[in-house]
Amino acid sequence: MTRLWNEPADFADEMIDGFVAANERYVRRVPGGVARSTTSPAGQVAIVIGGGSGHYPAFGGLVGPGLAHAAAMGNLFASPSAQQVYAVAKAADNGGGVFFTYGNYAGDVLNFDAAQERLRAEGVACETVTVTDDVFSATRDEKHKRRGIAGDLTVFRAVAAAAEAGYDLGEVARIGRLANERTRSFGVAFTGCTLPGAAQPLFSVPEGRMAIGLGIHGEPGIAESDIPSADGLAELLVQKLLTEVPDGIEVEAARVVPVLNGLGSLKYEELFVVYRRVAQLLTDAGIDIVDPHVGEYCTSFDMAGVSLTLFWLGSAEEDDELETLWQTAVDTPAYRRGSVAPQERADAAAIASVVETVEPGDEASRSVAQTVLAAVHTLVDTVDEHVEELGRIDAVAGDGDHGIGMQRGSHAALAAAIAAVEAGAGAQTTLERAADAWSDKAGGTSGALWGVILAAVASRLGDQGRPDAASVAAGVAAASRGVTDYGKAEVGDKTLVDALVPFSATLTRAIEAGAGLVDAWRTAADAATRAAAATADLLPRMGRARTHGQNSVGTPDPGAISLALIATAVGETLAASASQKEHAHG
Ligand code: ADP
Ligand code: MG
Repeated sequence: MTRLWNEPADFADEMIDGFVAANERYVRRVPGGVARSTTSPAGQVAIVIGGGSGHYPAFGGLVGPGLAHAAAMGNLFASPSAQQVYAVAKAADNGGGVFFTYGNYAGDVLNFDAAQERLRAEGVACETVTVTDDVFSATRDEKHKRRGIAGDLTVFRAVAAAAEAGYDLGEVARIGRLANERTRSFGVAFTGCTLPGAAQPLFSVPEGRMAIGLGIHGEPGIAESDIPSADGLAELLVQKLLTEVPDGIEVEAARVVPVLNGLGSLKYEELFVVYRRVAQLLTDAGIDIVDPHVGEYCTSFDMAGVSLTLFWLGSAEEDDELETLWQTAVDTPAYRRGSVAPQERADAAAIASVVETVEPGDEASRSVAQTVLAAVHTLVDTVDEHVEELGRIDAVAGDGDHGIGMQRGSHAALAAAIAAVEAGAGAQTTLERAADAWSDKAGGTSGALWGVILAAVASRLGDQGRPDAASVAAGVAAASRGVTDYGKAEVGDKTLVDALVPFSATLTRAIEAGAGLVDAWRTAADAATRAAAATADLLPRMGRARTHGQNSVGTPDPGAISLALIATAVGETLAASASQKEHAHG
């Protein structure tokens, strides 16, 4: 378990503050994460990594010369928001373009892709390679669907070395794809991890048993077996990875970097005993071992588990590009290799200049931003009015914090929206700022999901001109897809998806049939309200309520109810703002 914290919701933020205070030689705090506190050459491709917090040394611990230029750091096990990723990328950019690389998870892909679009729209070149090393998470034919685990490190190092060597963005991306293709990992877990303040681990493995195919966010394994001996485990890991040799590689005489990674609670001594046998087996297979790594490179709090990664550099002479890149020296808070020349510190002015500014919207969009602000106001009022009732419903099968979580998130969103409007922001920027503040401050599942919802709607509003009704409907549809991608719940699982999906479908249909936004929104809000009430009959299959499912039959889902209440109230605000405009136009 995790023993020390203040306010669980503040844990990630306070952890980053302390990490930076302890490592100022390497990193500085920037909005959304950390960036190097040292300079890098003008025109060098900026390597930006990131993901949820709770995996130290991934991701902040891997920022420094020879490795990443910056890391976007989300809340615990939650993707950084698009705004965070964007802000971190802006801080890292040296004028040579930005390269994103991170583990392949739906939430991260959603947010990094959105940031990438924004950078490109501003004329900053940006490319991405997601890491897909976990061989157990999808079949070989669907390698692109695999998730990223400890193999992040080898891909990060390869692309960072390429950037250091002066490769341009396209060439860095080529190295990224090659390194990812050459990186395969496989892991097991003996216990799950427990987040700060949580009463229970995210999953548990029966005593004496082992989950095979671990995830690093408390995803339970894919199969289970008895715990073997250390040698037995080494054999299992190596055997599996030898069935996963990348195309074009001959095992005999292949040069391989092995990474034996502890997930948090396993001791170095245990790892060394396992590695002893791993090394024998690789050597027996004819493999030439290069620069072995045994230690903690990507953790999952107190999870007891281990993974083996094989990074296939190539076979001797023919293909030595990855091997040459691997010689690059690295100096970061948590990872060092070779010796790096002393670095010049970035000056304070350069650091200050990355503090975010708002690009002003045009007049039409600033007027839409006023409606957005009014809608966020309404949202806050609605949540405040129902805070106790939402808490009470959540306590039936969940943890009773839905009301206060929504309150924290929506109030932070309102403050951010006000600040954006005061700075002259258009509609999109105003709602984006609100979305980021919500997901940063709310905590809880619904906080992350509301961040996704608002950010998706924002993405279709623009900062120039007035969006039409179809754009708003497209934004809501993107929100609906974003939430199901992110949270993996489907209609019928008893979550807010049960209200959001019919809301979006009804809105789109009504607008396609020619209704105006105000009428279409009302019809859609009614559909959401009916659907939310109907969740009372369902058994929860997602979220923390799943564990106590039976209790909740007869009570509707709190997330679906709050969504329907908000949709209804915002509909009234849209109507009021539309009638005001009519008056203004006579
Ligand atoms: P937490 O569950 O972290 O305490 P809240 O209490 O604020 O967060 O929100 C609970 C609500 O979150 C649930 O009622 C449900 O509507 C929603 N929810 C939980 N998990 C998911 C999911 N995977 N997808 C969509 N909605 C979810
Ligand atoms: Mg809750």
